Amino acid sequence: MADSTLDTQENGLDAPPPTPIVEPPVFVWPPRPVAMFKFLFGNPGYFLPLNILYMGLAIISWFLLTPALSSMTTFQWEWIAIVYGRNLGLTFLIFGGLHLRFYTLNAQGTRFMLNRRAPTVGHRRFLFGNQVRENMFWTAGSGVIVWSAYEVVTLWAFANGYIPMLSWEAHPVYFVLLFCAVPMIRDAHFYFVHRLLHYRFLYRTVHQLHHKNVDIGPWSGMSMHPLEHVLYFSGVLLHWVLLSHPLHAIFHVQQTGLAPALGHVGYHKLLIKGDTEVRIGQRYFHYLHHRFFECNYGGDGTVPLDKWFGTWHDGTPESHEFMRARRKQAHGA
Ligand SMILES: [Zn+2]
Ligand SMILES: [Zn+2]
Repeated sequence: MADSTLDTQENGLDAPPPTPIVEPPVFVWPPRPVAMFKFLFGNPGYFLPLNILYMGLAIISWFLLTPALSSMTTFQWEWIAIVYGRNLGLTFLIFGGLHLRFYTLNAQGTRFMLNRRAPTVGHRRFLFGNQVRENMFWTAGSGVIVWSAYEVVTLWAFANGYIPMLSWEAHPVYFVLLFCAVPMIRDAHFYFVHRLLHYRFLYRTVHQLHHKNVDIGPWSGMSMHPLEHVLYFSGVLLHWVLLSHPLHAIFHVQQTGLAPALGHVGYHKLLIKGDTEVRIGQRYFHYLHHRFFECNYGGDGTVPLDKWFGTWHDGTPESHEFMRARRKQAHGA
């Protein structure tokens, strides 16, 4: 914990991420309507480029890669296998694709890299003596199963009318607004679950597994203890009590399953064709959580709960000193 964020930035990096990290102008007081509009509809912004991709993928998944709702009234292996197979396929495509590009093919070397070294550590503290293999094991062996189980039970409940179904024709505005709000709802839910996981007992027995990843890569994202997966994906239960459509539930649980790949990519910009730089979301925010632990519990800070609860690490040395002092005080050292 003695490192400052600056040594990370100096580790062969040609362009450190901009600091301080500032919260998006959505939940700010006094309101900043023009800045909020720019954030929501600009590029990069709330929708562009990433959330639009996740939204499009959810729509494709619902219309083309999900069995008919009428076939899901009973638990039959045929349709459960389609849901699980689709989720496993998307996981290998996205987590595997990102790992292949950034670490196997080393497509942009250390350009815009956040890590001090590649997250491919061979060490006996990891299962199979290898960081990537352990991360893949927890992702496929627990993460995708828990994700699919939540999805299967939710679709079954919709199919049987145990959950009331929102109609697009009757409430189109509410339909769209709820769909657009899902990433923010996820962000807020993640903050509280994650904060809970950092309480001493839960941290030692459950969450420590995820934090074996100090230098992070795509497969680190879903590398969690099964109990953490159960808590992490529980946000989809919102659609059991809030009037929703299966499309909302699929978007919610699918983004929860896939977003950690990019969330842990270990780079803050994508370099295309050698010279075009594309910012890939606020990657530095969660990276700092893996370096310094007791800060930045929210996903990407869109709902700035870290700011409101005093755990916002903005990447500056001043912020780092503040966090260290707070930690000393809390631990009486
Ligand atoms: Zn993480
Ligand atoms: Zn954590």
